[in-house]
Amino acid sequence: MRVAFFGGTFDPIHRGHLGLASAASVAFALDRVLFAPVGQQPLKSAPSIASFADRLAMATLACNPEPPATGNLQPATCPRFAVSTLDAPRADGTPNYTVDSLAALARELPTASLYVLTGADSFLTLRRWRSPCRLLALAEWIVVSRPDFPLSEAQIAPLDLTPAQRARVHLLTTLNEEVSATNLRRRLQAGDPCPGLLPPAVAAYILSHHLYR
Ligand code: ATP
Repeated sequence: MRVAFFGGTFDPIHRGHLGLASAASVAFALDRVLFAPVGQQPLKSAPSIASFADRLAMATLACNPEPPATGNLQPATCPRFAVSTLDAPRADGTPNYTVDSLAALARELPTASLYVLTGADSFLTLRRWRSPCRLLALAEWIVVSRPDFPLSEAQIAPLDLTPAQRARVHLLTTLNEEVSATNLRRRLQAGDPCPGLLPPAVAAYILSHHLYR
């Protein structure tokens, strides 16, 4: 079974995240993508705006949209998508390190082939993550393009990957989703519902819970 771990702030989850997961699922025949909202991202100085509970709820809605009330059932966004609490806030208030979450996933699913999904901007900071070598040993990495973050051999060269590590990193350069959570939060605060950029159930959740206002 091919299982991908997709960590992020997801504040809120948006079309770029879902596009990344869909493109990676298709290209690498993934059986499962686990969206794992992070309690505390070690490399982000500003805390998330929405609570962990709200970000988890929005990720759950994005993965499992309710069928329409008409009874005219539509397929879920993608039956392979699920939410994980592996990166839930830690009781001692310390940040969540991906290496710990991946090690836990490897213990939970000892026979699975593990992947990590990430956008180009995040992956290019890999040397600042805790235990980069172990991260590359625990899983294969699928790195996906993002506008303003070119993704090529030249871009990843400064990471100084060994040939064996490089073989575990796959570049997917076909995605071009011009959307970021930072920009969405700004627009939502100004009262713009951001049509087309948020799953409808997530947009409704934001409205009913008065988030980002
Ligand atoms: P923010 O603007 O708050 O930093 P974000 O949407 O960039 O939000 P996260 O929610 O932490 O950040 O993103 C989770 C992962 O999704 C990261 O690996 C990021 O690179 C990737 N990602 C986010 N948006 C896109 C996008 N539009 N295209 C490709 N990858 C993306």
